[in-house]
Amino acid sequence: MSMNKEEQLRLEVVKAAKAIFAKGLVEAGEGNVSIRNGKKEELFITPSFNQYTTLKKDEIVHMNFDGTSLSSGKLPSTEVKMHIAIYQSRPKVQAVIHTHSIYATLLSVVQKNIPILMEEMYIFIGGSIDVSRFGKAHTEEIGNVALNALGIKNAALLENHGVIVCGKSIDHAVKFAELVEKLAKIYWGALQIGEPKVISEEHLDRFKKLHESLFANYPRSMRKKKL
Ligand SMILES: [Zn+2]
Repeated sequence: MSMNKEEQLRLEVVKAAKAIFAKGLVEAGEGNVSIRNGKKEELFITPSFNQYTTLKKDEIVHMNFDGTSLSSGKLPSTEVKMHIAIYQSRPKVQAVIHTHSIYATLLSVVQKNIPILMEEMYIFIGGSIDVSRFGKAHTEEIGNVALNALGIKNAALLENHGVIVCGKSIDHAVKFAELVEKLAKIYWGALQIGEPKVISEEHLDRFKKLHESLFANYPRSMRKKKL
């Protein structure tokens, strides 16, 4: 029996949620993963107070972008408004992940943007990883501050809170969430032992096409904004 599309999307959310938990990017009850439901104004998102080790596809919450739940059972993640804000303003985004990974959150607490330290950062993320203004958790406000910090890029730090990433696929989003934490660790460590050398823009131009063709997910109307 072939599984229908929506069941498959639920399974993809479960798989990604377990992947970020296995990597230590979230603890039980925090963080969230969602996926867009094709061309519909709907998403599937991990439930509130998510228990990653026992998470099953039937616990994933199906929601309309207007905030109404299309599934019975669990309540959606309390950060669902932030996910919806990103889907609505960036139509190419297929998946959104929010974590409280430790080193990235540490940098968000001291409000340190992660400058471009490695070429892969430009290829996958599209540039520096900037800290948002503070936004109250669980509100639309945090969606707006997240979008501002993302600009046309794929990752940002949420001030005194954690990480937000978005991707053209859920595999991309998992990769970005892992990469943000790795870069945060490298930056934190580098600051302990010396002065981190930032890669200058002129060395990055050759990766622009690669980033845009494979990983960029901002709408064409935003193209004029600088990376
Ligand atoms: Zn959070």
